[in-house]
Amino acid sequence: MKIVVCIKQVPASTDAKIDPETKRIVREGVNAILNPFDIYALETAVQLREKLGGEVIAVSMGPEKALQALKEAISLGIDRAVLLSDRAFGGSDTWATSYVLAKAISKIGEVDLVICGKQAIDGDTAQVGPGIAAHLGWLQATCVMALEDVAADKVTVKRMHEDGYDVCALEFPAVLTVLKGINVPRVPTLRGRLKAERSEIPIWQPEDIGADAGKIGLHGSPTRVVKTQPPPQRDSATLVLTGTAQETARKLVRELRLRSVL
Ligand code: FAD
Repeated sequence: MKIVVCIKQVPASTDAKIDPETKRIVREGVNAILNPFDIYALETAVQLREKLGGEVIAVSMGPEKALQALKEAISLGIDRAVLLSDRAFGGSDTWATSYVLAKAISKIGEVDLVICGKQAIDGDTAQVGPGIAAHLGWLQATCVMALEDVAADKVTVKRMHEDGYDVCALEFPAVLTVLKGINVPRVPTLRGRLKAERSEIPIWQPEDIGADAGKIGLHGSPTRVVKTQPPPQRDSATLVLTGTAQETARKLVRELRLRSVL
């Protein structure tokens, strides 16, 4: 079984800033981490390979700094990685990003399953996984909370939605986006870290994947971000209550009593 996991390097959430001129996320000079949802996608793929055999390949589109994220993926047990990096890819929206990733997946060839995180914590759109499926014309299941069954030619998944969950069977090739909680990700082993350090990660450019220059980067992107604004500062009197519905209701009543509202 050949599985591709798409991973994105994102700014650590406390460091995320938007350039007011370009309306794009500032990635230079900020701490970068592997998108948290993608760690669960990697673990899902590694567990499938351990069960069924085959190969897991991580793919990322981003600046050369994203090699760090790919090395982390290798230390977590994947077999090899590919970085898609070129100035021409810069400014891609989700449609152009999914196009580039789909072209890379086609170049890798004979892929059964693509696994993405549910969303990236910077762009937050959750569109890239479905975009890849649309470009490739493959079946897809988003918000996957569990794998019920996996065979050589299909996977049965449980996907979460607002009113409960669906159980769907998808024949390969297919794309899944996974939620946190689908598994408990492993921590990197020493052997994994050594393998990551020694790994040579190829860097592919548009011509390597046969990408159409008119479909990538800012000019190939149909989305225009016209305005961004930070969320309003939370007033210091605001209290965020956490816990189960019963616990939060109890805390709310206690707070209202303390403030003499009840
Ligand atoms: P998501 O779709 O949330 O990511 C889901 C999963 O896809 C990830 O977990 C990962 O598995 C995979 N993935 C995502 N990106 C990559 C990658 N580069 N390499 C490998 N795997 C990846 N774009 C739009 O199309 N519409 C918008 O409205 C929009 N608004 C934006 C607003 C702002 C302020 C900014 C700064 C950018 C905006 N963008 C928008 C651009 C968007 O952030 C990028 O296109 C981004 O690369 C992909 O979208 P995402 O981060 O939302 O990924």
